[in-house]
Amino acid sequence: MLSVTEARERILSHFHPTTEETLPLIECAGRVLAVDVSAPHDLPLFDNSSMDGFAILASDSPSGTHASPVTLSVVADIPAGSAPKVTLTQGQAARIMTGAQMPAGADAVIPVEETDSNFHTAGTAAPQTVSFSKTIAPGQNVRTRGSDLSAGTVVLKKGRPLKPQDMGLLAMLGMAQVKVHKKPLVAMLSSGDELVDVDQPLTGGKIHDSNSYAIGALIQNAGADILRLGVAKDTRQSVEGLLQKAIQANVDLIITSAGVSVGAFDFVKEVIEASGKMDFWRVNMRPGKPLAFGEYSGTPFIGLPGNPVSAFVGFEVFVRSVLEKLGGRSDGSRPTVKVRCEEQIDSDGRESYLRARLREDNGVMFCRLTGHQGSGNLLSLVQADALLIIPAGVKCVPVGREVEAILL
Ligand code: AMP
Ligand code: MG
Repeated sequence: MLSVTEARERILSHFHPTTEETLPLIECAGRVLAVDVSAPHDLPLFDNSSMDGFAILASDSPSGTHASPVTLSVVADIPAGSAPKVTLTQGQAARIMTGAQMPAGADAVIPVEETDSNFHTAGTAAPQTVSFSKTIAPGQNVRTRGSDLSAGTVVLKKGRPLKPQDMGLLAMLGMAQVKVHKKPLVAMLSSGDELVDVDQPLTGGKIHDSNSYAIGALIQNAGADILRLGVAKDTRQSVEGLLQKAIQANVDLIITSAGVSVGAFDFVKEVIEASGKMDFWRVNMRPGKPLAFGEYSGTPFIGLPGNPVSAFVGFEVFVRSVLEKLGGRSDGSRPTVKVRCEEQIDSDGRESYLRARLREDNGVMFCRLTGHQGSGNLLSLVQADALLIIPAGVKCVPVGREVEAILL
């Protein structure tokens, strides 16, 4: 029997990141950066005002506790988005708006609320003079060039999936085109004569195919595109016909559910072996002991178990890291945390992935199982916040012991 780690490493060693493509920024949200991005210019690019007010020389502002007000002559009006043409000298001020470039000579801004102008009225001309009695220090209310970041700084690292805030920063830096990894394309096939799609009636002995939906959503959630192959009947022809579609679409990976155990009608195994190869592994884990790995017509293939919870756990444990590697991601998308057991948990010595609900109390995370752990009981997975990882060899976790958990 293989350990989970051995099985995962064997699988991962067969995959490499997809090639890069250069896309318009607008298409890059969620995509994984293929290169480090360094800033082509400082941010802010020019000294600018952080307030609506008047640009001044700080040395003109009153000093001392009971200083009398000063009056400066207003020699320019600087709206946002224009280049100031004046150089302020002693005794002068310029009306300035938030984000507008500071005029040469000025080194501080007095907010309009602190002056005799009280507020800027839209559409009105700047006053002739401005008076105020507040002491203003050099640099006050000014965002200086490069104070956020300087040109050449690496701001986003290769391997990072682009978050909304990253999109904003890339736009600030004028990155109209970005080098990202191609999205992996994954084919998903369910198999079994008992399965019908969700819109079909459940006549004698049939059940709805849930794996296409759960695993399909996991594929997308892990940053890949999906080719939905639907349900293969338990015949050679049906399985072969659908797998051929995956080959024609040039997918990066084929995922199947069910049909790889020793059931008399399990044709997935037979079909794959006829046009490729397949290893059938018994992994020391629960749920999801049977796992198939191989290739079909040169395309890698992972066969998950049919039971819905086993298929889900199999995806989280083996397939997610494959999609992350294929997609060029450098970090994991599922963080693990330490949680404390509120009930005794019995295990059978296999590495176990158990559905649990979490509860936070005074900074400590507590966990409790979500009812019976049958591998077909999808509701207990729906109710779970996490999968507890009970290590191989452990048969009993006492109350109060900490275990690792994958957050769902
Ligand atoms: P098998 O791997 O074919 O032995 O299937 C194991 C169990 O999972 C059986 O109860 C199947 O009916 C069930 N099963 C297989 N595939 C699916 C699927 N796509 N959706 C829901 N249940 C499934
Ligand atoms: Mg079956």
